[in-house]
Amino acid sequence: MPSFVLVNPKRRLSARYETGILSFAFALAATVFYLDTFTDIHSALATLYVITLLLSAETLTEKGTLLLTVVCVGLSILSYAAAHGTDADLAAILRLAVAIAAILITCALIIRNHRARLDLIKFNVALQSSEERYRTIFEQSRVALWERDYSEVRALLMVLKAQGVSDLRAYARDNPNFIGDCISRIPTVAANAAALELLGNVSAKNAGSMRRYIAQDDETFLDLMVAIFDNQSYFEGKGTIITSDGTTKLVLLTVGFPVDVANFNRVIVGMFDITERELAQKALFEAQAELALASRAATVGALSASLAHELNQPLGALVVNAQTLLRWLDRDPPDLAAVARSAERIVRDSQRASDIIQSTRSMLSERTPVLEPVSLADLVNETQALMESELSRNRIKFEMSEAPGIANVSAVRIELQQVLINLITNAIQAMAATPEEVRRISVSINPADGRGVRVSFRDSGPGLSADILEKLFKPFCTTKETGLGMGLAICRSILEARGGTLTASNHTEGGALFEMIVPMEAVHE
Ligand code: ADP
Repeated sequence: MPSFVLVNPKRRLSARYETGILSFAFALAATVFYLDTFTDIHSALATLYVITLLLSAETLTEKGTLLLTVVCVGLSILSYAAAHGTDADLAAILRLAVAIAAILITCALIIRNHRARLDLIKFNVALQSSEERYRTIFEQSRVALWERDYSEVRALLMVLKAQGVSDLRAYARDNPNFIGDCISRIPTVAANAAALELLGNVSAKNAGSMRRYIAQDDETFLDLMVAIFDNQSYFEGKGTIITSDGTTKLVLLTVGFPVDVANFNRVIVGMFDITERELAQKALFEAQAELALASRAATVGALSASLAHELNQPLGALVVNAQTLLRWLDRDPPDLAAVARSAERIVRDSQRASDIIQSTRSMLSERTPVLEPVSLADLVNETQALMESELSRNRIKFEMSEAPGIANVSAVRIELQQVLINLITNAIQAMAATPEEVRRISVSINPADGRGVRVSFRDSGPGLSADILEKLFKPFCTTKETGLGMGLAICRSILEARGGTLTASNHTEGGALFEMIVPMEAVHE
Protein backbone atom coordinates (compact mmCIF):
# COMPACT_ATOMS: atom_id res chain seq x y z
CA MET A 1 0.00 0.00 0.00
CA PRO A 2 1.49 3.39 -0.98
CA SER A 3 2.70 5.38 2.00
CA PHE A 4 0.77 8.56 1.12
CA VAL A 5 -2.46 6.71 1.82
CA LEU A 6 -1.27 5.32 5.11
CA VAL A 7 0.72 8.19 6.50
CA ASN A 8 -1.24 11.21 7.61
CA PRO A 9 0.14 14.05 5.46
CA LYS A 10 -1.23 16.84 7.69
CA ARG A 11 0.35 15.53 10.83
CA ARG A 12 3.86 15.00 9.48
CA LEU A 13 6.20 16.75 11.84
CA SER A 14 9.38 15.74 10.05
CA ALA A 15 10.17 12.82 7.82
CA ARG A 16 12.98 11.69 10.08
CA TYR A 17 10.92 11.81 13.23
CA GLU A 18 8.15 9.95 11.53
CA THR A 19 10.41 7.26 10.13
CA GLY A 20 12.03 6.89 13.56
CA ILE A 21 8.68 6.42 15.30
CA LEU A 22 7.43 3.94 12.71
CA SER A 23 10.68 1.95 12.78
CA PHE A 24 10.54 1.79 16.55
CA ALA A 25 6.90 0.71 16.44
CA PHE A 26 7.62 -2.04 13.90
CA ALA A 27 10.69 -3.19 15.85
CA LEU A 28 8.52 -3.37 18.95
CA ALA A 29 5.91 -5.38 17.04
CA ALA A 30 8.59 -7.75 15.82
CA THR A 31 9.94 -8.16 19.37
CA VAL A 32 6.48 -8.83 20.74
CA PHE A 33 5.90 -11.38 17.97
CA TYR A 34 9.21 -13.10 18.74
CA LEU A 35 8.60 -13.25 22.50
CA ASP A 36 5.01 -14.36 22.02
CA THR A 37 5.92 -17.10 19.55
CA PHE A 38 9.23 -18.43 20.75
CA THR A 39 9.26 -17.95 24.52
CA ASP A 40 7.29 -19.62 27.19
CA ILE A 41 5.99 -16.52 28.94
CA HIS A 42 2.44 -17.26 30.05
CA SER A 43 0.86 -13.86 29.80
CA ALA A 44 -1.10 -11.85 27.23
CA LEU A 45 2.09 -10.61 25.59
CA ALA A 46 0.15 -9.77 22.46
CA THR A 47 -1.51 -6.88 24.32
CA LEU A 48 1.82 -5.08 23.87
CA TYR A 49 0.85 -4.61 20.21
CA VAL A 50 -1.32 -1.84 21.65
CA ILE A 51 1.87 0.18 22.20
CA THR A 52 2.74 -0.25 18.53
CA LEU A 53 -0.66 1.07 17.60
CA LEU A 54 -0.44 3.99 20.00
CA LEU A 55 3.05 4.93 18.79
CA SER A 56 1.97 4.94 15.15
CA ALA A 57 -1.37 6.70 15.80
CA GLU A 58 0.07 10.16 15.28
CA THR A 59 1.77 9.24 12.04
CA LEU A 60 -0.71 6.95 10.31
CA THR A 61 -3.96 7.77 8.60
CA GLU A 62 -7.20 6.02 9.49
CA LYS A 63 -6.59 3.42 6.82
CA GLY A 64 -3.00 2.92 8.01
CA THR A 65 -4.20 2.38 11.58
CA LEU A 66 -6.78 -0.18 10.40
CA LEU A 67 -4.14 -2.04 8.39
CA LEU A 68 -1.74 -2.04 11.34
CA THR A 69 -4.55 -3.36 13.57
CA VAL A 70 -5.17 -6.21 11.11
CA VAL A 71 -1.43 -6.96 11.08
CA CYS A 72 -1.23 -6.92 14.91
CA VAL A 73 -4.27 -9.20 15.26
CA GLY A 74 -2.85 -11.47 12.54
CA LEU A 75 0.52 -11.66 14.32
CA SER A 76 -1.18 -12.45 17.62
CA ILE A 77 -3.11 -15.35 16.01
CA LEU A 78 0.01 -16.49 14.19
CA SER A 79 2.01 -16.56 17.45
CA TYR A 80 -0.80 -18.49 19.14
CA ALA A 81 -0.93 -21.00 16.27
CA ALA A 82 2.86 -21.39 16.25
CA ALA A 83 3.12 -21.81 20.01
CA HIS A 84 0.08 -23.97 20.67
CA GLY A 85 -0.78 -25.61 17.37
CA THR A 86 -4.02 -27.48 17.68
CA ASP A 87 -3.71 -28.03 21.45
CA ALA A 88 -6.72 -26.35 22.92
CA ASP A 89 -5.42 -24.41 25.92
CA LEU A 90 -8.24 -22.42 27.48
CA ALA A 91 -5.88 -20.05 29.32
CA ALA A 92 -3.92 -19.35 26.12
CA ILE A 93 -7.17 -18.80 24.16
CA LEU A 94 -8.34 -16.35 26.83
CA ARG A 95 -5.01 -14.50 26.70
CA LEU A 96 -5.31 -14.29 22.92
CA ALA A 97 -8.88 -13.03 23.22
CA VAL A 98 -7.83 -10.36 25.76
CA ALA A 99 -4.98 -9.22 23.49
CA ILE A 100 -7.19 -9.06 20.40
CA ALA A 101 -9.87 -7.15 22.34
CA ALA A 102 -7.25 -4.68 23.60
CA ILE A 103 -5.90 -4.19 20.06
CA LEU A 104 -9.38 -3.65 18.60
CA ILE A 105 -10.49 -1.26 21.36
CA THR A 106 -7.27 0.73 20.98
CA CYS A 107 -7.82 0.87 17.22
CA ALA A 108 -11.39 2.10 17.74
CA LEU A 109 -10.26 4.75 20.21
CA ILE A 110 -7.46 5.93 17.93
CA ILE A 111 -9.88 6.25 15.00
CA ARG A 112 -12.44 8.07 17.14
CA ASN A 113 -9.77 10.41 18.42
CA HIS A 114 -8.52 10.89 14.89
CA ARG A 115 -11.97 11.83 13.62
CA ALA A 116 -12.62 14.19 16.52
CA ARG A 117 -9.32 15.88 15.79
CA LEU A 118 -10.23 16.25 12.11
CA ASP A 119 -13.57 17.79 13.08
CA LEU A 120 -11.79 20.19 15.38
CA ILE A 121 -9.38 21.18 12.62
CA LYS A 122 -12.29 21.74 10.21
CA PHE A 123 -14.13 23.80 12.82
CA ASN A 124 -11.02 25.87 13.46
CA VAL A 125 -10.52 26.51 9.77
CA ALA A 126 -14.17 27.62 9.44
CA LEU A 127 -13.79 29.84 12.49
CA GLN A 128 -10.62 31.34 11.12
CA SER A 129 -12.15 32.09 7.73
CA SER A 130 -15.24 33.63 9.34
CA GLU A 131 -12.99 35.76 11.56
CA GLU A 132 -11.05 36.79 8.44
CA ARG A 133 -14.28 37.66 6.64
CA TYR A 134 -15.43 39.73 9.59
CA ARG A 135 -12.04 41.47 9.74
CA THR A 136 -12.19 42.25 6.01
CA ILE A 137 -15.69 43.73 6.32
CA PHE A 138 -14.63 45.66 9.42
CA GLU A 139 -11.43 46.98 7.84
CA GLN A 140 -12.76 47.77 4.40
CA SER A 141 -16.13 49.20 5.36
CA ARG A 142 -16.58 52.85 4.39
CA VAL A 143 -18.62 53.27 7.55
CA ALA A 144 -16.47 54.33 10.48
CA LEU A 145 -16.43 51.33 12.85
CA TRP A 146 -14.97 50.85 16.28
CA GLU A 147 -14.70 47.77 18.40
CA ARG A 148 -14.94 49.03 21.96
CA ASP A 149 -14.81 47.48 25.38
CA TYR A 150 -17.94 48.57 27.23
CA SER A 151 -17.66 46.03 30.03
CA GLU A 152 -16.13 48.38 32.59
CA VAL A 153 -18.56 51.23 31.94
CA ARG A 154 -21.47 48.80 32.06
CA ALA A 155 -20.24 47.47 35.38
CA LEU A 156 -20.06 51.05 36.70
CA LEU A 157 -23.61 51.77 35.54
CA MET A 158 -24.92 48.59 37.11
CA VAL A 159 -23.21 49.47 40.40
CA LEU A 160 -24.94 52.87 40.31
CA LYS A 161 -28.25 51.14 39.64
CA ALA A 162 -27.67 48.75 42.53
CA GLN A 163 -26.92 51.76 44.73
CA GLY A 164 -30.40 53.10 43.95
CA VAL A 165 -29.69 55.58 41.16
CA SER A 166 -32.80 55.57 38.99
CA ASP A 167 -32.44 58.80 37.00
CA LEU A 168 -29.06 58.69 35.30
CA ARG A 169 -29.51 62.13 33.70
CA ALA A 170 -30.09 63.73 37.09
CA TYR A 171 -27.07 61.83 38.45
CA ALA A 172 -24.94 63.16 35.53
CA ARG A 173 -26.12 66.71 36.29
CA ASP A 174 -25.16 66.36 39.95
CA ASN A 175 -21.79 64.76 39.12
CA PRO A 176 -20.01 66.84 36.49
CA ASN A 177 -17.15 64.31 36.20
CA PHE A 178 -19.48 61.43 35.42
CA ILE A 179 -19.40 61.73 31.60
CA GLY A 180 -15.61 62.11 31.49
CA ASP A 181 -15.25 59.15 33.83
CA CYS A 182 -17.48 57.01 31.58
CA ILE A 183 -15.61 58.00 28.43
CA SER A 184 -12.26 57.03 29.95
CA ARG A 185 -13.67 53.62 30.90
CA ILE A 186 -14.34 52.71 27.26
CA PRO A 187 -11.11 51.63 25.62
CA THR A 188 -11.04 51.08 21.87
CA VAL A 189 -10.09 47.54 20.89
CA ALA A 190 -9.89 48.30 17.17
CA ALA A 191 -10.84 51.05 14.73
CA ASN A 192 -11.07 50.73 10.97
CA ALA A 193 -9.52 53.06 8.39
CA ALA A 194 -12.78 55.01 7.89
CA ALA A 195 -12.94 55.63 11.65
CA LEU A 196 -9.38 56.99 11.75
CA GLU A 197 -10.22 59.18 8.75
CA LEU A 198 -13.36 60.50 10.47
CA LEU A 199 -11.37 61.55 13.51
CA GLY A 200 -9.08 63.56 11.21
CA ASN A 201 -6.65 60.98 9.84
CA VAL A 202 -5.29 60.06 13.24
CA SER A 203 -3.05 57.08 13.89
CA ALA A 204 -4.53 53.92 15.42
CA LYS A 205 -2.62 54.72 18.62
CA ASN A 206 -4.39 58.08 18.99
CA ALA A 207 -7.82 56.49 18.51
CA GLY A 208 -7.39 54.46 21.70
CA SER A 209 -9.64 56.66 23.81
CA MET A 210 -12.51 58.87 22.63
CA ARG A 211 -11.91 61.37 25.45
CA ARG A 212 -10.51 64.11 23.19
CA TYR A 213 -13.08 63.54 20.43
CA ILE A 214 -16.30 63.74 22.47
CA ALA A 215 -17.43 67.04 23.99
CA GLN A 216 -17.89 66.76 27.76
CA ASP A 217 -21.40 68.18 27.51
CA ASP A 218 -22.41 65.85 24.67
CA GLU A 219 -26.01 64.88 25.29
CA THR A 220 -25.83 61.96 22.86
CA PHE A 221 -23.13 60.25 24.89
CA LEU A 222 -25.32 60.56 27.96
CA ASP A 223 -28.23 59.10 25.96
CA LEU A 224 -25.96 56.18 25.08
CA MET A 225 -25.15 55.62 28.76
CA VAL A 226 -28.87 55.73 29.56
CA ALA A 227 -29.49 53.07 26.88
CA ILE A 228 -26.98 50.74 28.60
CA PHE A 229 -28.38 51.65 32.00
CA ASP A 230 -31.89 50.70 30.79
CA ASN A 231 -30.62 47.43 29.23
CA GLN A 232 -31.70 48.41 25.75
CA SER A 233 -30.63 46.22 22.84
CA TYR A 234 -29.30 49.01 20.63
CA PHE A 235 -28.74 52.73 20.49
CA GLU A 236 -29.08 55.22 17.66
CA GLY A 237 -28.64 58.96 17.88
CA LYS A 238 -27.20 62.09 16.35
CA GLY A 239 -24.13 63.48 18.03
CA THR A 240 -21.09 65.64 17.50
CA ILE A 241 -17.43 64.75 17.53
CA ILE A 242 -14.44 67.03 17.53
CA THR A 243 -11.80 65.90 15.05
CA SER A 244 -8.05 66.15 15.64
CA ASP A 245 -7.91 69.56 13.91
CA GLY A 246 -10.73 70.92 16.09
CA THR A 247 -13.49 70.71 13.47
CA THR A 248 -16.91 69.73 14.77
CA LYS A 249 -18.63 67.00 12.81
CA LEU A 250 -22.21 65.83 13.05
CA VAL A 251 -22.46 62.06 13.16
CA LEU A 252 -25.14 59.43 13.27
CA LEU A 253 -24.15 56.96 15.94
CA THR A 254 -25.30 53.33 16.07
CA VAL A 255 -24.38 50.83 18.74
CA GLY A 256 -25.73 47.27 18.99
CA PHE A 257 -25.41 45.80 22.46
CA PRO A 258 -24.69 42.06 22.79
CA VAL A 259 -27.34 39.81 24.32
CA ASP A 260 -24.72 38.09 26.43
CA VAL A 261 -23.33 40.50 29.03
CA ALA A 262 -19.96 38.73 28.80
CA ASN A 263 -19.58 40.09 25.27
CA PHE A 264 -19.71 43.74 26.31
CA ASN A 265 -15.93 43.73 25.91
CA ARG A 266 -16.39 43.73 22.13
CA VAL A 267 -19.15 46.11 21.12
CA ILE A 268 -19.31 47.43 17.57
CA VAL A 269 -19.90 51.15 17.26
CA GLY A 270 -20.71 52.68 13.86
CA MET A 271 -20.62 56.35 12.90
CA PHE A 272 -21.78 58.05 9.73
CA ASP A 273 -20.63 61.55 8.98
CA ILE A 274 -23.85 63.50 8.31
CA THR A 275 -22.40 67.01 8.51
CA GLU A 276 -22.85 67.73 4.80
CA ARG A 277 -26.31 66.20 4.73
CA GLU A 278 -27.47 68.20 7.73
CA LEU A 279 -26.12 71.43 6.26
CA ALA A 280 -27.84 70.69 2.94
CA GLN A 281 -31.07 69.93 4.79
CA LYS A 282 -30.80 73.17 6.74
CA ALA A 283 -30.28 75.10 3.51
CA LEU A 284 -33.28 73.27 2.03
CA PHE A 285 -35.47 74.20 5.00
CA GLU A 286 -34.37 77.82 4.71
CA ALA A 287 -35.06 77.83 0.97
CA GLN A 288 -38.47 76.28 1.59
CA ALA A 289 -39.26 78.89 4.23
CA GLU A 290 -38.26 81.67 1.81
CA LEU A 291 -40.37 80.11 -0.92
CA ALA A 292 -43.35 79.76 1.40
CA LEU A 293 -42.98 83.42 2.30
CA ALA A 294 -42.73 84.46 -1.35
CA SER A 295 -45.78 82.40 -2.21
CA ARG A 296 -47.63 83.96 0.68
CA ALA A 297 -46.88 87.34 -0.84
CA ALA A 298 -48.37 86.03 -4.09
CA THR A 299 -51.41 84.82 -2.14
CA VAL A 300 -51.83 88.25 -0.61
CA GLY A 301 -51.51 89.68 -4.15
CA ALA A 302 -54.35 87.42 -5.25
CA LEU A 303 -56.34 88.68 -2.29
CA SER A 304 -55.77 92.35 -3.02
CA ALA A 305 -59.19 92.85 -4.65
CA SER A 306 -60.87 91.30 -1.62
CA LEU A 307 -58.70 93.29 0.75
CA ALA A 308 -59.49 96.58 -0.99
CA HIS A 309 -63.16 95.74 -0.70
CA GLU A 310 -62.80 94.67 2.92
CA LEU A 311 -61.01 97.86 3.81
CA ASN A 312 -63.45 100.04 1.86
CA GLN A 313 -66.29 99.13 4.16
CA PRO A 314 -64.81 100.17 7.52
CA LEU A 315 -63.13 103.21 5.96
CA GLY A 316 -66.40 104.37 4.36
CA ALA A 317 -68.20 103.75 7.64
CA LEU A 318 -65.49 105.74 9.44
CA VAL A 319 -66.05 108.78 7.23
CA VAL A 320 -69.84 108.58 7.62
CA ASN A 321 -69.62 108.21 11.41
CA ALA A 322 -67.11 111.06 11.71
CA GLN A 323 -69.43 113.34 9.68
CA THR A 324 -72.40 112.32 11.85
CA LEU A 325 -70.36 112.97 14.99
CA LEU A 326 -69.51 116.49 13.75
CA ARG A 327 -73.18 117.12 13.03
CA TRP A 328 -74.17 116.06 16.61
CA LEU A 329 -71.46 118.33 17.94
CA ASP A 330 -72.68 121.30 15.84
CA ARG A 331 -76.10 121.15 17.50
CA ASP A 332 -76.89 123.63 20.18
CA PRO A 333 -76.65 122.16 22.72
CA PRO A 334 -74.52 119.31 21.30
CA ASP A 335 -76.12 115.84 21.63
CA LEU A 336 -73.35 114.23 23.64
CA ALA A 337 -75.01 110.79 23.89
CA ALA A 338 -75.23 110.61 20.08
CA VAL A 339 -71.62 111.90 19.82
CA ALA A 340 -70.51 109.05 22.12
CA ARG A 341 -72.36 106.47 19.99
CA SER A 342 -70.71 107.76 16.81
CA ALA A 343 -67.32 107.81 18.50
CA GLU A 344 -67.83 104.17 19.56
CA ARG A 345 -68.66 103.21 15.96
CA ILE A 346 -65.56 105.05 14.77
CA VAL A 347 -63.44 103.09 17.24
CA ARG A 348 -65.04 99.78 16.14
CA ASP A 349 -64.55 100.46 12.42
CA SER A 350 -60.96 101.64 12.86
CA GLN A 351 -60.32 98.47 14.83
CA ARG A 352 -61.72 96.34 11.99
CA ALA A 353 -59.63 98.15 9.39
CA SER A 354 -56.58 97.78 11.59
CA ASP A 355 -57.29 94.03 12.06
CA ILE A 356 -57.46 93.50 8.31
CA ILE A 357 -54.19 95.33 7.73
CA GLN A 358 -52.61 93.51 10.65
CA SER A 359 -53.57 90.05 9.38
CA THR A 360 -52.23 90.89 5.90
CA ARG A 361 -49.02 92.19 7.37
CA SER A 362 -48.53 89.14 9.57
CA MET A 363 -49.17 86.93 6.58
CA LEU A 364 -46.33 88.63 4.75
CA SER A 365 -43.85 88.86 7.55
CA GLU A 366 -44.45 85.98 9.93
CA ARG A 367 -41.34 83.83 9.89
CA THR A 368 -41.43 81.96 13.13
CA PRO A 369 -44.16 79.36 12.99
CA VAL A 370 -46.23 79.23 16.16
CA LEU A 371 -48.31 76.17 16.93
CA GLU A 372 -51.71 76.99 18.37
CA PRO A 373 -55.09 75.28 18.73
CA VAL A 374 -57.02 75.88 15.51
CA SER A 375 -60.69 75.20 14.82
CA LEU A 376 -60.72 74.26 11.14
CA ALA A 377 -64.38 75.26 10.77
CA ASP A 378 -63.62 78.75 12.15
CA LEU A 379 -60.61 79.02 9.87
CA VAL A 380 -62.68 78.06 6.79
CA ASN A 381 -65.34 80.63 7.79
CA GLU A 382 -62.72 83.34 8.29
CA THR A 383 -61.08 82.57 4.96
CA GLN A 384 -64.47 82.67 3.26
CA ALA A 385 -65.09 86.08 4.83
CA LEU A 386 -61.71 87.24 3.62
CA MET A 387 -62.49 86.12 0.06
CA GLU A 388 -66.14 87.08 0.14
CA SER A 389 -65.90 89.83 -2.49
CA GLU A 390 -64.05 87.48 -4.94
CA LEU A 391 -66.64 84.77 -4.35
CA SER A 392 -69.63 87.06 -4.84
CA ARG A 393 -68.06 88.86 -7.83
CA ASN A 394 -67.77 85.43 -9.49
CA ARG A 395 -71.27 84.41 -8.32
CA ILE A 396 -69.97 81.39 -6.42
CA LYS A 397 -72.01 79.70 -3.73
CA PHE A 398 -69.86 78.68 -0.79
CA GLU A 399 -71.07 76.03 1.65
CA MET A 400 -69.42 74.33 4.57
CA SER A 401 -70.42 71.31 6.66
CA GLU A 402 -68.70 69.96 9.74
CA ALA A 403 -69.18 66.53 11.34
CA PRO A 404 -70.07 66.76 15.04
CA GLY A 405 -67.32 66.52 17.67
CA ILE A 406 -64.37 67.73 15.58
CA ALA A 407 -61.68 68.84 17.99
CA ASN A 408 -59.25 71.69 17.45
CA VAL A 409 -55.98 70.73 15.78
CA SER A 410 -52.64 72.02 16.94
CA ALA A 411 -51.31 73.79 13.84
CA VAL A 412 -49.68 76.93 12.47
CA ARG A 413 -52.74 78.97 11.62
CA ILE A 414 -51.23 81.17 8.92
CA GLU A 415 -49.89 78.13 7.05
CA LEU A 416 -53.28 76.44 6.94
CA GLN A 417 -54.93 79.67 5.87
CA GLN A 418 -52.48 79.98 3.01
CA VAL A 419 -53.45 76.48 1.83
CA LEU A 420 -57.17 77.29 2.06
CA ILE A 421 -56.76 80.53 0.11
CA ASN A 422 -54.83 78.69 -2.61
CA LEU A 423 -57.43 75.95 -2.95
CA ILE A 424 -60.33 78.41 -3.02
CA THR A 425 -58.55 80.70 -5.51
CA ASN A 426 -57.87 77.71 -7.81
CA ALA A 427 -61.50 76.62 -7.57
CA ILE A 428 -62.73 80.15 -8.37
CA GLN A 429 -60.45 80.30 -11.42
CA ALA A 430 -61.39 76.78 -12.55
CA MET A 431 -65.09 77.70 -12.60
CA ALA A 432 -64.67 80.73 -14.86
CA ALA A 433 -66.40 78.91 -17.73
CA THR A 434 -68.96 77.11 -15.56
CA PRO A 435 -72.58 78.37 -15.83
CA GLU A 436 -73.15 80.91 -13.04
CA GLU A 437 -76.12 79.11 -11.50
CA VAL A 438 -74.13 75.94 -10.74
CA ARG A 439 -70.88 77.50 -9.50
CA ARG A 440 -70.31 76.06 -6.06
CA ILE A 441 -67.51 75.32 -3.58
CA SER A 442 -68.40 72.75 -0.90
CA VAL A 443 -66.12 72.27 2.04
CA SER A 444 -66.67 69.37 4.43
CA ILE A 445 -64.80 68.70 7.64
CA ASN A 446 -64.68 65.14 8.96
CA PRO A 447 -62.54 62.99 11.22
CA ALA A 448 -59.76 61.17 9.32
CA ASP A 449 -59.75 57.67 10.88
CA GLY A 450 -57.67 58.61 13.89
CA ARG A 451 -55.13 60.41 11.72
CA GLY A 452 -56.48 63.90 12.37
CA VAL A 453 -59.05 65.94 10.51
CA ARG A 454 -59.92 65.64 6.81
CA VAL A 455 -60.95 68.82 5.02
CA SER A 456 -62.41 68.21 1.53
CA PHE A 457 -62.86 70.93 -1.11
CA ARG A 458 -65.14 70.13 -3.98
CA ASP A 459 -65.95 72.52 -6.79
CA SER A 460 -68.31 72.33 -9.77
CA GLY A 461 -65.68 73.20 -12.35
CA PRO A 462 -64.40 70.99 -15.20
CA GLY A 463 -62.31 68.79 -12.86
CA LEU A 464 -58.76 67.59 -13.47
CA SER A 465 -57.65 65.89 -16.69
CA ALA A 466 -55.67 62.66 -16.36
CA ASP A 467 -52.64 64.48 -17.72
CA ILE A 468 -52.78 67.23 -15.07
CA LEU A 469 -53.62 64.81 -12.24
CA GLU A 470 -50.30 63.07 -12.78
CA LYS A 471 -48.14 66.13 -12.22
CA LEU A 472 -50.45 68.46 -10.33
CA PHE A 473 -48.22 68.75 -7.26
CA LYS A 474 -44.99 69.08 -9.22
CA PRO A 475 -43.53 72.59 -9.33
CA PHE A 476 -44.30 74.67 -12.44
CA CYS A 477 -47.27 72.56 -13.47
CA THR A 478 -49.84 75.06 -14.73
CA THR A 479 -52.52 75.38 -17.40
CA LYS A 480 -53.04 79.10 -16.77
CA GLU A 481 -51.53 81.73 -19.00
CA THR A 482 -50.24 83.77 -16.12
CA GLY A 483 -49.91 80.86 -13.69
CA LEU A 484 -46.68 79.90 -12.04
CA GLY A 485 -47.66 76.35 -11.14
CA MET A 486 -46.20 76.58 -7.64
CA GLY A 487 -49.36 76.94 -5.55
CA LEU A 488 -50.26 73.29 -5.07
CA ALA A 489 -46.64 72.18 -4.74
CA ILE A 490 -46.19 74.65 -1.90
CA CYS A 491 -49.52 73.70 -0.29
CA ARG A 492 -48.51 70.06 -0.24
CA SER A 493 -45.07 70.77 1.19
CA ILE A 494 -46.59 73.04 3.87
CA LEU A 495 -48.94 70.24 4.97
CA GLU A 496 -46.41 67.41 4.70
CA ALA A 497 -43.83 69.34 6.71
CA ARG A 498 -46.32 69.23 9.60
CA GLY A 499 -47.22 65.57 9.14
CA GLY A 500 -50.32 66.15 7.01
CA THR A 501 -51.24 65.27 3.39
CA LEU A 502 -52.85 66.87 0.36
CA THR A 503 -54.36 64.79 -2.46
CA ALA A 504 -56.42 65.56 -5.53
CA SER A 505 -58.97 63.59 -7.54
CA ASN A 506 -62.16 64.08 -9.50
CA HIS A 507 -65.47 63.83 -7.69
CA THR A 508 -67.69 61.02 -9.00
CA GLU A 509 -70.39 63.61 -9.71
CA GLY A 510 -68.00 66.00 -11.45
CA GLY A 511 -65.66 68.77 -10.38
CA ALA A 512 -62.27 68.65 -8.70
CA LEU A 513 -61.89 67.25 -5.19
CA PHE A 514 -58.95 68.29 -3.04
CA GLU A 515 -58.54 66.61 0.32
CA MET A 516 -56.17 67.61 3.04
CA ILE A 517 -55.53 65.76 6.26
CA VAL A 518 -54.36 67.87 9.15
CA PRO A 519 -52.86 65.86 12.04
CA MET A 520 -54.12 66.59 15.55
CA GLU A 521 -50.57 67.47 16.58
CA ALA A 522 -48.41 69.19 13.97
CA VAL A 523 -44.82 68.07 13.58
CA HIS A 524 -42.55 70.83 14.85
CA GLU A 525 -39.44 71.48 12.72
P1 ADP B 1 -51.25 77.79 -10.77
O1 ADP B 1 -52.52 78.16 -10.08
O2 ADP B 1 -50.22 78.85 -10.74
O3 ADP B 1 -51.44 77.21 -12.13
P2 ADP B 1 -51.29 75.56 -8.96
O4 ADP B 1 -50.19 74.68 -8.51
O5 ADP B 1 -52.10 76.22 -7.91
O6 ADP B 1 -50.59 76.62 -9.89
O7 ADP B 1 -52.24 74.74 -9.90
C1 ADP B 1 -51.69 73.91 -10.90
C2 ADP B 1 -52.72 73.54 -11.92
O8 ADP B 1 -53.68 72.64 -11.37
C3 ADP B 1 -53.55 74.68 -12.44
O9 ADP B 1 -52.90 75.37 -13.48
C4 ADP B 1 -54.81 73.98 -12.92
O10 ADP B 1 -54.62 73.46 -14.22
C5 ADP B 1 -54.93 72.79 -11.99
N1 ADP B 1 -55.95 73.01 -10.95
C6 ADP B 1 -55.73 73.39 -9.69
N2 ADP B 1 -56.89 73.46 -9.00
C7 ADP B 1 -57.87 73.09 -9.86
C8 ADP B 1 -59.30 72.95 -9.77
N3 ADP B 1 -59.95 73.21 -8.63
N4 ADP B 1 -59.96 72.54 -10.86
C9 ADP B 1 -59.31 72.27 -12.03
N5 ADP B 1 -57.98 72.39 -12.17
C10 ADP B 1 -57.27 72.79 -11.11
